[in-house]
Amino acid sequence: MLLTPGPTAVPEFVRNAMSKQTIHHRTKEFELLFKDTKDMLLKLLNMPECVIFASSGTGAMEACVASFCQSKALVINSGKFGERFAKICVALDKPYVEIINDWDTAVCVDEIKQTILAHKDIDSVFVQVCESAGGLRHPAEGIAKAVKNIDKNIVVVADGITAVGVESIDTTYIDALIAGSQKALMLPPGLSVVGLSRQAVKTLESCSAGYYLNIKAELDKQRQNTTAYTAPTTLILGLQAVLRAMSDIGFDTIYRQTKNRAKATRDSLSALGLQIYPKTPADAMTTIYHERSNDIRAMLKNNFDINIAGGQDHLAGKIFRINHMGFVRDYEAVWVVNAIEICLDKLGLRQFDGTANKIYAKGLL
Ligand SMILES: *Cc1c(COP(=O)(O)O)cnc(C)c1O
Repeated sequence: MLLTPGPTAVPEFVRNAMSKQTIHHRTKEFELLFKDTKDMLLKLLNMPECVIFASSGTGAMEACVASFCQSKALVINSGKFGERFAKICVALDKPYVEIINDWDTAVCVDEIKQTILAHKDIDSVFVQVCESAGGLRHPAEGIAKAVKNIDKNIVVVADGITAVGVESIDTTYIDALIAGSQKALMLPPGLSVVGLSRQAVKTLESCSAGYYLNIKAELDKQRQNTTAYTAPTTLILGLQAVLRAMSDIGFDTIYRQTKNRAKATRDSLSALGLQIYPKTPADAMTTIYHERSNDIRAMLKNNFDINIAGGQDHLAGKIFRINHMGFVRDYEAVWVVNAIEICLDKLGLRQFDGTANKIYAKGLL
């Protein structure tokens, strides 16, 4: 069982959709495929425009920094992915200020306001909706609103790679919303997406930047249902299948099911006495702080065939992260919390009494 918060499991119907012969990208056939997929994607993103890149998620992050930061960026860093925006600024020679917090702590909206007022040249803000390093939810929508209240020309870029497809995101004040194929979109790695507001599109008129990862150049092509360079046709066939299935089930139904699964998982692991790591947990994943995380993960893999993720940097060996993105079934999620309870018993940490299963099941009543 692949239950890491990216890459996530690719369902069989998606693998089947991608098993056909490759199509040529300069054809009517591809344009129809692209249009159908893009129309569904815009509904999922809840944005008026979007571009798709053949890159991992970081490609879309880099494209947004290149296009939307002209004078100075404000980067929100509560983990590995926030930190990445800062590293991209360094690589692209963009001045930036950074608000750094512990990986369990979301940024405070007031601090963002004060920082913007103190740095008049900030023209762009970069934040994760869910910071996957610790599994925390930033108040991305509140941040976007506060920023626009100060100056509506500041571009708000929200990295929703572990939020798009997981939960409803209010995009009213967000200019660019990033998604990636290997998280909630249940695809293999290799596609990134940037949803764009009307204002973002207007901003792009005067700041086309980059070559391959050029949002403006791609937008111009993709508005005509084609791509600037060879399109990742196979992954787009997969994306079409995913979005069709998600639309059939209903985005709101998926968000509700994911939320319930995340809550039931958190509740059952808390009931075992385990510590939820982030102060504001996102629904994309459950992160547990535990000194024996490596032992628990190894036992889950070797004895129960369950793959979950660990932590990085100072959290290596200190946390484990369980994915809730995509079409995870309750019988899979409940088996994970059961297996964790068994592991705790085998490690001599807590006697097994079926609490995890009981609390998870109660969440389904
Ligand atoms: C996975 C992820 C990314 C992108 O990482 P890639 O390895 O480049 O796909 C960016 N932001 C967040 C929050 C992520 O979880």
